[in-house]
Amino acid sequence: MPVELLGKSADELRAFVASLGEPAYRGGQIYHALYAERCLDLAAMTNLPAPLRARLAEEARITLPRIVRRFPSVDGSVRYLFSIGGEDAKPAQIEAVFIPKEGRQTICISTQAGCALDCHFCLTAQLGLIRNLSAGEIIGQVLAALEENREQLAPQTNVVLMGQGEPLLNFDAVMAALLILLDPNGMAISPKHATLSTSGIVPGIERLAREKVRPKLAISLNASSNEQRDRIMPINRKYPLEKLLDACRKYPLRPWEHLTFEYVLLGGFNDSPEDARRVVKLLANLRAKVNLIPWNPGDLPYEKPDAARIEEFRRILTDKGMLAFVRYSRGQDVMAACGQLALAEAAETPPDVAQLQV
Ligand code: SAH
Repeated sequence: MPVELLGKSADELRAFVASLGEPAYRGGQIYHALYAERCLDLAAMTNLPAPLRARLAEEARITLPRIVRRFPSVDGSVRYLFSIGGEDAKPAQIEAVFIPKEGRQTICISTQAGCALDCHFCLTAQLGLIRNLSAGEIIGQVLAALEENREQLAPQTNVVLMGQGEPLLNFDAVMAALLILLDPNGMAISPKHATLSTSGIVPGIERLAREKVRPKLAISLNASSNEQRDRIMPINRKYPLEKLLDACRKYPLRPWEHLTFEYVLLGGFNDSPEDARRVVKLLANLRAKVNLIPWNPGDLPYEKPDAARIEEFRRILTDKGMLAFVRYSRGQDVMAACGQLALAEAAETPPDVAQLQV
């Protein structure tokens, strides 16, 4: 059975070529071709001698997630439905979203197929956890999305680990993928342009804090009290706000860095002025930025927040000197927005397109 190269580190690739009786430095050349040049075809790795390429064609392979369907949004973003696994791993489907913007593209990728966390407002939760992704399956989503859009790529690529799954519950594979994504000799994405979002897995946050190479960190706060958070995010019973915010206060931020807090605004549930004032108190003493995300509809018993409430919420935060922004998710018409990745077909009646930020 050929060995899968995608997801392997430079050291692992060196060990692999050495196992074939080749000089180890050839592994470094494969690493460069694969991740820095994004050459996905072994036969085209012309920095390798022809006999080695022939040998690799037998002994190795590079497998990208297979695109099952593309869902292009009116706003220019595209949701990809991928299928992964099959031969040596459990077959699964996952999603990623390609979001072009002036001067850059953001690629939102999944770290697990499905999710175990059961956040009540999120459609991905309905899938349950199917399985963890490997490092190669995580990186493969970025490579596949870049490959698909090769002709129209902007100079900068941002990667957000905000698709299906809880990245900190698949720590080893996520970290192995990030080391390649953030390696200047690998995919060379700047740590300033990569964000890992967590529902608040405290031991994972503590572990990430000790990593030398790491992306920016975002925390899905989503509520202004334990009582409220317990009702929508069962993980809060395990890691309540005191513990979560304590881990955040201890998190070693780099000089340029803020902790981002995502706050899904659920109409009539967590979007009142009192909620906003409680959020200000919770996040006092943190170098924090708040992204307010009006709830993206799915077949779940929540409401979109009122425009006036959204604005008032934001104003209360900024009046207290906090950085706060309203983030309308892209791709709502094709179920590509935050919380909508659940392998769903695009909605028959697109939502109010006027509210999409094109
Ligand atoms: N499991 C991680 C990574 C997913 S990020 C985490 O929870 O952070 C996805 C983000 O979208 C999270 O901040 C989540 O709270 C938010 N979200 C989930 N459902 C949503 C919805 N229907 N509308 C808007 N945001 C949603």
